[in-house]
Amino acid sequence: MNSALPSKAPHRLQPPRPLSEIALLSREERLAGRPKLCSDCGICTGDLRPLMAQSCVFVNNRAEEIERRLHGRNRHDGDELLFGIYRELHVFRMKPPVPGAQWSGAVTSLGALLLERGLVEGVITTGAVPGTRYAPLPILARTPDEVRATRGNKPCLAPTLDVLTQVRQAGLRRIAYIGTGCQVHALRAIEDQLGLERLYVIGIPCTDNTTYPDLQRFLQVVSRSPDTVVHHEFMQDFRIWLKHEDGSVEKVNFVDLDVARLGGEIGVFPPACLSCFDYQNGLSDLTIGYMGAPLPPDERWQWTLVRTERGVELFNLLRPYIEERAPISGGDRTRGMPAYIQMLRKPRRRPPWPIRQLVAFIQRRSGPKGLEFARSVIEMKLLRNLQFVRERHGRLERRIVPGYVYRALARYADVYRREFGCELQPPAR
Ligand SMILES: Cc1cc2nc3c(=O)[nH]c(=O)nc-3n(C[C@H](O)[C@H](O)[C@H](O)COP(=O)(O)OP(=O)(O)OC[C@H]3O[C@@H](n4cnc5c(N)ncnc54)[C@H](O)[C@@H]3O)c2cc1C
Ligand code: SF4
Ligand code: SF4
Repeated sequence: MNSALPSKAPHRLQPPRPLSEIALLSREERLAGRPKLCSDCGICTGDLRPLMAQSCVFVNNRAEEIERRLHGRNRHDGDELLFGIYRELHVFRMKPPVPGAQWSGAVTSLGALLLERGLVEGVITTGAVPGTRYAPLPILARTPDEVRATRGNKPCLAPTLDVLTQVRQAGLRRIAYIGTGCQVHALRAIEDQLGLERLYVIGIPCTDNTTYPDLQRFLQVVSRSPDTVVHHEFMQDFRIWLKHEDGSVEKVNFVDLDVARLGGEIGVFPPACLSCFDYQNGLSDLTIGYMGAPLPPDERWQWTLVRTERGVELFNLLRPYIEERAPISGGDRTRGMPAYIQMLRKPRRRPPWPIRQLVAFIQRRSGPKGLEFARSVIEMKLLRNLQFVRERHGRLERRIVPGYVYRALARYADVYRREFGCELQPPAR
C-alpha cells in the first residue's frame, strides 16, 4: 500500500488486547499509561500509534487548521460557531424508519448503501461485544448486512481507529468511516498518510461519553430496571427516555438525575470528554444526529449538517429513501445561560422534589426547541468544558481549546467575568 506509515509493526504502548476485551475494562485499566486526557480513539492501540502526536486532539487541537484544508476558511459568526461549517441543514428520517436503529437508521443505511453501490470496499462501524448490548466493538464491515447489524448506539468510548490497521492489512483503498468528533479529528489529521484513494467520513454528534462499566453504573442510578434497558437517549424535552425490553418507556427528568451518586460528572465522564469541544463533529463530511430535530421521539426525525462536497454526495445517496420536513426553532437559549454560569461557579445542592418537578415542567414548556435546543446544549457544553480545562488542565488550554470556542461564547463574557473574575478570552499565544 502506498502510505507514509511504517512498514514494520511499531512499538505499542501496551500489549495488544482484542478490542472486545478493551471495551469491558474500567477507566483506570483502560487508560493506564496514556496521557492525562485520552478518549481511547484507537490510534494508540493499533499500528498508527507512531502518529499519535500529530493526530491526537488532546495533544494539539488542529481543528481550525483542518477546517481551512477542507473548506478554505474557518467558521463564520452565527450558527457555524456552534454547529461547525456546513453548506446544507436538513431535518429528515428514513422512510420507513429502520427497526432497532438509534433513531431512523440513517447512519447505518448510508454505510450499507456505500457498499451496495461499490463506492467503498469497507466501512468502519461499531457493533456490540457479543453478549452485551452496549459494549462497543468497532469492526471493518465488508457487506451491507454487516453494517446494518451495527445499528444502535453503544454509548461508550470505542477505539474505532484501531480498525485502520485491518484496513491496511486488507489492502483496502476506498473506505467509509463512522465515528465521533475526537476520532474524526485524529483521522483527518493523518488522512493523507493512509494511502487511501477515497474516504467518506460520516460523523455522529457526541458528548459526555463514558466507559462501559461507568455506563452500567449510570443506568443503575437512573433506571428502575437497568438490565432491561434496550435503548436510551437524552431527549430534547429535558428528559432521559429509557426503553425497556417489554416496550415500556421510562422518562427521567434531567433535573432529577442524582449525579452525586455517581461521584459527580468527573466520576462518570472521562476527563477527555470534559475537555472536548467538538460535540457536532465539525470535521466530518456530514454529521447525522437528532438534537436539532423536533419531537416526539417515536417519529424519529433526525437532523444532518452537510459539510463538504463529499457530504453532498452522501446525502444525495440517501435522498430516495428519506422524507424531509422543515426545521423548527423556538425559545431563547440565552435567557438561561447566566444562571447556568452561576451554577458552574457554585454548584447547588439538588433542590427538593416538588421544585425539581416545577423546573422540569417549565423546561419542557418554555425551554428552547428544535435548532435553539441544539444551540443551547452545545453552548453549555462548550462553557462547562472550557471551565473544566481551566480548572484542571490549565496548562493545556492554549493547545486544546480551539479559537471558535471563545468566539462562540463571547456574548456571555460579562457574566463570565462577574462570576469567575477572569476573562473569557484565549490565553496569550
Ligand atoms: C456517546 C454518544 C453520544 C451521542 N450524543 C448525541 C447528542 O447529544 N446529540 C445528537 O444529536 N446525537 C448524539 N449521538 C448520535 C445519535 O445518538 C445517533 O447515533 C445518530 O443520530 C445516528 O442515529 P441513526 O439512527 O442514524 O444511527 P444507526 O443507523 O442506528 O447507527 C448508529 C451508528 O452509530 C455508531 N456508533 C454507535 N456507538 C458508537 C460509539 N460508541 N462510537 C462510535 N460510533 C458509534 C455505529 O457504528 C452505527 O454506525 C450520540 C452518539 C453516541 C455514540
Ligand atoms: S485520544 Fe487517541 S491519539 Fe489521543 S492518546 Fe488517546 S488513543 Fe492516543
Ligand atoms: S465526548 Fe468528545 S472526547 Fe468524548 S468520545 Fe465524544 S467526541 Fe470523543
